Amino acid sequence: MSMLSLLRDTRLFIKTVRMLGKAKTLGFALIAATLAVIPPAWAANVKPTMSAARALQLLLDGNQRFIAGRLDHPDQSRERREEVAKGQHPFASVLSCSDSRVPPEVIFDQGLGDLFVVRVAGNVATDITIQSLDYSVKHLGVRVVMILGHTECGAVKAAILGHDEEGDVGPLLSELKPAVADSKGQPGDPVTNAVRENVKLVMQKLEESPELSAMVKTGELRIIGGVYNLKTGKIDIL
Ligand SMILES: [Zn+2]
Repeated sequence: MSMLSLLRDTRLFIKTVRMLGKAKTLGFALIAATLAVIPPAWAANVKPTMSAARALQLLLDGNQRFIAGRLDHPDQSRERREEVAKGQHPFASVLSCSDSRVPPEVIFDQGLGDLFVVRVAGNVATDITIQSLDYSVKHLGVRVVMILGHTECGAVKAAILGHDEEGDVGPLLSELKPAVADSKGQPGDPVTNAVRENVKLVMQKLEESPELSAMVKTGELRIIGGVYNLKTGKIDIL
């Protein structure tokens, strides 16, 4: 190999290394730009149905109509049925008790496609209920989740006794135990006190859940707690 060709090869080598270096920098820049565009895992996939404030107002207005016995029965027509068959965009989610006296669509005076409802005795937050609520937020555009307890809740009463009618302490009563412990000794009705504590604990669980915590922190999502009064129909917001 002549001195000249060696020099040429060396120059070519240095040039190639520089080009690769630039390509690497460009590659890193491209990856960084892509990551900036791709939303983090928690970010919503669809735009909000409406703001949290507006959604909460619609819920409270509906409850007022229910209390007064002046129901609008909105969104229950054939047209609405056909409209929502194409897709759903509920404005709020409700986690409430399975109790037959607390149907969210009735007590908030709403109709088809308005509320995303998760019901379970004692309105407890298990992995499955949290996952269901998470779906409504990320994929359906919900920005208000209401945790709704109610007076005279049978599940909470059983948890206060420490067992159900068969004497069992199953997974449900275990879920309610912390609320019973926290409310012990509070003045007033022990059942309502435990119901209120349970709603607070469920709210906290949702707010701290890996699924929803980021959106709660930014204020994009609001978790609201309420206790429904069986006699008056009124919901006391906590
Ligand atoms: Zn109940």
